[in-house]
Amino acid sequence: MALLSVNDINVYYGAIHAIKGISFEVNEGEVVTLIGANGAGKSTTLQTISGLLRSKTGSITFRDQNISSIPADKLVSHGLAQVPEGRRVFLQMSVEENLEMGAYTRPNSEVDPGLERVYDQFPRLKERRKQVAGTLSGGEQQMLAMGRALMSSPKLLMLDEPSMGLAPILVDQIFEIIQRLHKAGTTILLVEQNAQMALSVADRGYVLETGKIVTSGTGSALLADESVKKAYLGG
Ligand code: ATP
Repeated sequence: MALLSVNDINVYYGAIHAIKGISFEVNEGEVVTLIGANGAGKSTTLQTISGLLRSKTGSITFRDQNISSIPADKLVSHGLAQVPEGRRVFLQMSVEENLEMGAYTRPNSEVDPGLERVYDQFPRLKERRKQVAGTLSGGEQQMLAMGRALMSSPKLLMLDEPSMGLAPILVDQIFEIIQRLHKAGTTILLVEQNAQMALSVADRGYVLETGKIVTSGTGSALLADESVKKAYLGG
């Protein structure tokens, strides 16, 4: 049974038909990636799942419940956490305060154990827990945004372009963290322009082109696919 099931969604920005009838699934424990060029509809898809945009058709089922009309701010307590593109941490607040904000849907008794777990996954954040988030490097801010999302103990973690704007060495670190979270059992839906890295860590992937899924398969099958190589992997 799928943890998340997206069934025939169509999303518009005014007259622009951005998502044209896509369907896909994420099973428990999987890392699934959506790849595609600029403007293919990756972020729009994530924002529709997280309730910030609405589909005109179809349904989105999460943990056996149709969540298509649940407001975005209620979905966190259903177990859905999103790390938005551009990270958006609270720049004036410390690392630890940012993490605590991520636990706002959880009972107080879960905050300290949550911090422990996140600091285990991200020792760098522990070192810098009193530092103001605005002075962190881009990679550290990405770690903080991921840590903050994990504080809600999500059943599904959605990451929107975690590698964006990061130097190659930090991109490697972020993908190592994704692999670690995967090994620890976290289910992840990963949106990326860096198809090579995303497919390397993903169990399965879907290729989006102008609002439609054109190909899907295991990460390794897509890495070996000639048309995927040509269009997204630099030949
Ligand atoms: P990127 O990797 O560049 O973020 P993407 O695959 O995430 O691209 P989306 O941001 O989902 O793509 O955009 C899908 C389509 O919807 C694009 O044609 C884009 O121009 C359009 N679009 C996105 N946001 C808006 C908006 N607020 N108003 C109008 N059109 C939009």
